[in-house]
Amino acid sequence: MKESQSITGKGPVKVKCSFCGKEIECPENMMHSKKHMCYDCFRNAGELAEGEDLEQIHVDIPMDKINEVLPENMTNSLVNEIFPDVWKERKDKFKAMSKRKLAEEMFGAGAYIAIQQMLATMTEDEKNPRKQDG
Ligand SMILES: [Zn+2]
Repeated sequence: MKESQSITGKGPVKVKCSFCGKEIECPENMMHSKKHMCYDCFRNAGELAEGEDLEQIHVDIPMDKINEVLPENMTNSLVNEIFPDVWKERKDKFKAMSKRKLAEEMFGAGAYIAIQQMLATMTEDEKNPRKQDG
């Protein structure tokens, strides 16, 4: 074991995956995470992280994978958060629809929510400018 470098720089810190022990990198601002997870374990997270609080786990996702992982994750959480309400509210209406009409309706609802969220994020940025030019 060697500890030749102290954690002072801003670069990523080498940590071990809490699940398989593989060495991965962790950005300094994620070091407070209770656990770390490599990308391989993340792909199996359904089984591995059962009962774990995923928000407390830093996942080392390679840059080239973020584009496919992030939308998937965001979609899943949107579905989990929003779909039960939509379903409860409108299930009688849905039952009367043909499958095609229902699929259309849900696709539209999904697109609507996605655009709404995107606009909300953009508006928030405008309301809270990070720097002001004088
Ligand atoms: Zn791992």
